[in-house]
This record gives sequence, structure tokens and C-alpha cells, in this order.
Amino acid sequence: MSEQKLWLNLSEEDVQTLAALQAEMGLGGPDEVMHALIRQAHTRAAISCPACGHSAHLTAEDSARCDGCMSILQLSDQIWTIVTTRPTTA
Ligand SMILES: [Zn+2]
Repeated sequence: MSEQKLWLNLSEEDVQTLAALQAEMGLGGPDEVMHALIRQAHTRAAISCPACGHSAHLTAEDSARCDGCMSILQLSDQIWTIVTTRPTTA
């Protein structure tokens, strides 16, 4: 197994941003910053509908639609909340 390369071709600016984030977040190293950022991105990307638990997909930067119940979700303070639900069919 070859060693996986974590660091891609970061620019000088990226490296400085990482160092600044590391200090700001009080983390031990740039790899921890990268992990924290990946977790945050994953939290945003992996949306589960608060109404039915199905996965939802992003329709905009801060809104998403549930594939299960067709609810419209909106990101508010890092929490997905239901904006509208489709009326249940009789
Ligand atoms: Zn749903």
C-alpha cells in the first residue's frame, strides 16, 4: 500500500489561511484543521430531513429539498429546519 498523500498542491495563501484557522480554532496542527473543515463540509452535505429522516439534497447554499417527503429545508444557525412541507394527500 502506498502512502496516501493528504496535502495537495496548496498555495502559499492556502497554507497561511490554514495556519490562521489553526490558531483561531485552537487546534494542534494543520491536519486537524483539515479534518475539522471536512467534518463541517460533510455535515452540510449529508442532510437528513428533520420530518421523515430521508436524505435531502442541496438546492442552494442554504436550502435543500427532501427526496422522501418533499419538504423544503433551510439552514439556520447550522441546523436544517423545515420551511414548508407538502400537504399530505388524502
Ligand atoms: Zn422528508
